[in-house]
Amino acid sequence: MSEGSKGSKGSLLVLENFIGGKFISCQNHIESFDPSTGEIYCLVPDSGPQEVDVAVAAAKEAFPDWSSRSPEARAQILNKLADLLEKNLEEFAKAESRDQGKPVSLARSLDIPRSAYNFRFFASSVLHQLNDCRPMDHLSSLSYTQRCPLGVAGLISPWNLPLYLLTWKIAPAIAAGNTVVAKPSEMTSATAWMMCKLMEEAGVPPGVVNIVFGSGPRAGDALVGHPDVPLVSFTGSTATAQRITERSAPYCKKLSLELGGKNPAVVFADADLERCIETTVRSSFSNQGEICLCTSRIYVERSLYPEFLQRFVAAAKKWKTGVPSDPSSNNGALISKEHLEKVQGFVSLAKSEGAVIHCGEGVDQLDLPEPNRSGYFMPATVISGVSDGSRVMQEEIFGPVTCISPFDSEEEAISRANGVRYGLSATVWSRDVEKVHRVAQKIQAGLVWTNCWLVRDLNLPFGGMKNSGVGREGGKDSYHFFTEIKTITIKH
Ligand code: NAD
Repeated sequence: MSEGSKGSKGSLLVLENFIGGKFISCQNHIESFDPSTGEIYCLVPDSGPQEVDVAVAAAKEAFPDWSSRSPEARAQILNKLADLLEKNLEEFAKAESRDQGKPVSLARSLDIPRSAYNFRFFASSVLHQLNDCRPMDHLSSLSYTQRCPLGVAGLISPWNLPLYLLTWKIAPAIAAGNTVVAKPSEMTSATAWMMCKLMEEAGVPPGVVNIVFGSGPRAGDALVGHPDVPLVSFTGSTATAQRITERSAPYCKKLSLELGGKNPAVVFADADLERCIETTVRSSFSNQGEICLCTSRIYVERSLYPEFLQRFVAAAKKWKTGVPSDPSSNNGALISKEHLEKVQGFVSLAKSEGAVIHCGEGVDQLDLPEPNRSGYFMPATVISGVSDGSRVMQEEIFGPVTCISPFDSEEEAISRANGVRYGLSATVWSRDVEKVHRVAQKIQAGLVWTNCWLVRDLNLPFGGMKNSGVGREGGKDSYHFFTEIKTITIKH
């Protein structure tokens, strides 16, 4: 298969909605930019309520057959889709990198393999979920639980890990027997459209997976507000989640919300410094810092602080910003001009408040080839001297920026780590196992990694506390979200 095999208009890639197993073109389009050049390269359907209506109807029609198939039969199809994604890995990796701006090496090693694995994982996971059974002999009865798919699932995903996060929703939803209408981010729709081309060969029946492309306020809003969509799984910003919650309230929809973060790293003086610095540079700057789990506040025990700062800045300077197609680039382009300006705005704000910018934005010059000089690039930026109350320390920046600050006691570090409205992830660094457990247990975050980052077992719950989310996703958690439980009691 080829990215441009269908839907090319001049040199532009023109995407189409995928509804009821067919590609359906849309009258209006949204321009999508190549972040590494700043040029328009793709036209994304600007779908609205009408397209969403047709997609929901197709999904509704496909539901009775799909939900009545055995989990094993559905699993076979998910595995086939995983095979096909793996077979076309290189092409998907290149397309993801071009669409999102991330280094192609990251798309090749993370985004696309994980997208395929999402299907493989849930194909297997759904076969291993058990229900409860409880005899009550004194009442001569036996009760058991049954889990059923709900119907049409509405799935909305962001632009930072486009196919990875979309498949993280599609896979468990259809494995559990639902049919779906998905809406990827209008800024990164290409790989979702490419995946639609694999559906028929994988054996996905028409209407089981429908993808409607478009903006949040039009297509997304129509999906969330559709009366025939009883559940919505959303990954994106906290502000959008608030809007989705309001919009779905009149229908009492089931919601799963995976939102933003302002994730701390707490580094004690007895940490394995080499490992900590290597990992914390990665956790701060991977995917241009555009991962909800990225570290953006680093608290370092005061006795270690000068050495940590010096070594961290030296390592950050080596985090190479370059053209995404260059395999030696660590840091590609940010998603859009607006986002780049927003991230740069946080660095200016820190500067105006008296902070020190040690490297990156405004300090280091980028050396980019001519065609990429209008791309949305920004080097890895390290800041110190920002007060905890500053917007720079409170708000999600979602770019290659991290702030470092010293602390004096364990209690202080915990309190400052918890002093934001978010609670998604955190890292704790120390060789003292007792301390690591004590601190990890007191940190308000859905995920705490100690002496590591982003080590994931998909069986385990993923999600945030406070303003970082509602609900959890993962093997059992996703199965529970995408099914409805019923208790059946038999009197004998
Ligand atoms: P966003 O909220 O702007 O958009 C996310 C999706 O929602 C997009 O598809 C968008 O079109 C859609 N949308 C926007 N307005 C909508 C509306 N009114 N109704 C329905 N849908 C609407 O987020 P983004 O900028 O695409 O992504 C970045 C955010 O996502 C960051 O805050 C990041 O932390 C978060 N994120 C969280 C996780 C997680 O698992 N917790 C993972 C990745 C990203």
